[in-house]
Order: sequence, then structure tokens, then C-alpha cells
Amino acid sequence: MKRVEVGFEWENQAECKLRGVPPEEFYPDTGYPGRGAVAACAACPVKAECAQAARRRREHGYWAGAMHNNGIPQRRSTAHTGSLRERMTAAGVTIRALSEIIGTPAGTVSRWAAGAHIPDKDRREAVERAVGPVVWKR
Ligand code: SF4
Repeated sequence: MKRVEVGFEWENQAECKLRGVPPEEFYPDTGYPGRGAVAACAACPVKAECAQAARRRREHGYWAGAMHNNGIPQRRSTAHTGSLRERMTAAGVTIRALSEIIGTPAGTVSRWAAGAHIPDKDRREAVERAVGPVVWKR
């Protein structure tokens, strides 16, 4: 479980706490959150409260589905963009893992990685939350 405020009711519903996601997944050296952190935030029912807390406390790290710097959600850097396959390699995320994170069959993810198809907007955003910015091309 990451840093939380004691005595705040919403934190009892924090998905990261319920799943026991290791703190290092939220404070990554790579600049990209761990798979468990991404999956927890995606499913978390108290994301709004978490985002408010991160702002108020000027937090760093991954909060409410976004990397933060001094409490401000960061737009993704374009310095680390690449094809989906390149981004998956850089983030250490396998096709199977990405498939589980975003709830899409591995075969579909594999076709995206091969450049055979480009996912719809919602899935592109889900993928980029997991592996960072992707240059989508066929
Ligand atoms: S949004 Fe993410 S970091 Fe915030 S409480 Fe939920 S799981 Fe934890």
C-alpha cells in the first residue's frame, strides 16, 4: 500500500490497499508505473478522492491513474515515445500482461504490437497508461 492519510474513510476503499500493490510500483525509477499500480487505479472506486489528495499534498509518483509532480498530473513526455512493441519492451510489459491490464484478448494485443491494427481511442489511452506514449502506426 502506498502512502495514505490516516483517518480518511475513502482510503479504506483504495484498490491499491485492497490489492496490496507494492509502493515501488507507484514511485518507479523508470517514470512509468508498475502493472499492478495501473490495474489498481483503473479499477479504483475512489480515484477522485485520491486525485484531490495528491493535489492537496503536492505528491509525486503515480496517483489516480497519472504520474504527478508536486501535486500536478503530468502530461506524458514525448521523449519516450515509440511503437507499441518498443514501448512494451521499455516498460517490461509482455503481451499477456498488457492483455490482462486492459482486459483485451492477447491475440488482439499481439496484432496491435505487430502493427496490423490500431486500437480505438479508449483502448489506445488504456495501453498508454500502462506502457507510456505510443506512436501508433500500421
Ligand atoms: S486511485 Fe490508484 S493510487 Fe489512488 S487510491 Fe485508488 S488505487 Fe490507490
